[in-house]
Amino acid sequence: RSKFEGKNQYQIYSPMMNVNSLKMFTLKNDLKKAIVNEEFLVYFQPRINPKTFEITGAEALIRWKHPKWGIVSPNEFISLAEETGLITNLGEWLIKQVCKQIMGWKGRKLNFKKISINISSLQLFQIDFVDKILAIIKEQNINPQWLEFEITESVIIDREEQVLRTLSELKNVGISIALDDFGTGYSSLNYLRKIPCDIVKIDKSFISDIEVNKETFDILEATINLCKKLNKSVVIEGIETTHQLSIIQKLNCQEFQGYLCSKPLEEDQYIKFLQKGEWMSRGTEGQVQCPS
Ligand code: C2E
Ligand code: MG
Ligand code: MG
Ligand code: MG
Repeated sequence: RSKFEGKNQYQIYSPMMNVNSLKMFTLKNDLKKAIVNEEFLVYFQPRINPKTFEITGAEALIRWKHPKWGIVSPNEFISLAEETGLITNLGEWLIKQVCKQIMGWKGRKLNFKKISINISSLQLFQIDFVDKILAIIKEQNINPQWLEFEITESVIIDREEQVLRTLSELKNVGISIALDDFGTGYSSLNYLRKIPCDIVKIDKSFISDIEVNKETFDILEATINLCKKLNKSVVIEGIETTHQLSIIQKLNCQEFQGYLCSKPLEEDQYIKFLQKGEWMSRGTEGQVQCPS
């Protein structure tokens, strides 16, 4: 489907629509205007070293502050933005916004380490994507090592050669590349071989039954060993319980993300989190003890 196909495409409202399709319908029609009006917010979810509890960075996660529907999750509008081709504008807005925010943090001497940003394949398909990124980092005075781009294996299903070239160029600039949602696709090992990534983010579906399923644990352990052999750093997503954390602490994984530590936070709250310097023991109920 051409990325321009959706641009002048209007859907007709019919009274048969239920609330959910009405929502999708209005979101799709409102998207273009929302980008112009900057109705979006960036949340940040901390990434933590499971052994030292140090903050290693955060993932930027977009939200839409819709005038009628309130805070809308990316699961509800990213695919609409991809269908209409607007994801390239939205994605560029987000990168600029994150860069502005981290320059503000730099000014306040906050030790944010790095921020990872989800990049859609349509963004990587843009011939001038690397030039756009170079222009943003130059204009905002950003050190590329503060940035990490998260991609999924689907990025190289089409235009493989072009995408691989773009990824290598980004790496040469100093931006790290993370392979997101690892393990959920169809031929993950092949992608692991092809995509020049520095970091592998293991999908949360591998964590959800780790406490009860020995096979899940074995696959996770073997995957982490494989990543280590390939010199890739591992992030585990979706840690929700202290038990899950204690299990992954035995593995060779460098970072985790999950509700146990924190949900994605608005900028103000994330700054408070950063100012504490590390993720502290939650104290009550003797839950998670800070090791130091
Ligand atoms: P993702 O990149 O895999 O991001 C992780 C998602 O898992 C986030 O959902 C996060 O809130 C959620 N999560 C984190 N810890 C836990 C946990 O312990 N348990 C559970 N159940 N979930 C957890 P979110 O923010 O709703 O984002 C959903 C997806 O939308 C992201 O998945 C990503 O694919 C996409 N997305 C978000 N922001 C952007 C963006 O700026 N650009 C693009 N292209 N996609 C984005
Ligand atoms: Mg991600
Ligand atoms: Mg994702
Ligand atoms: Mg993910």
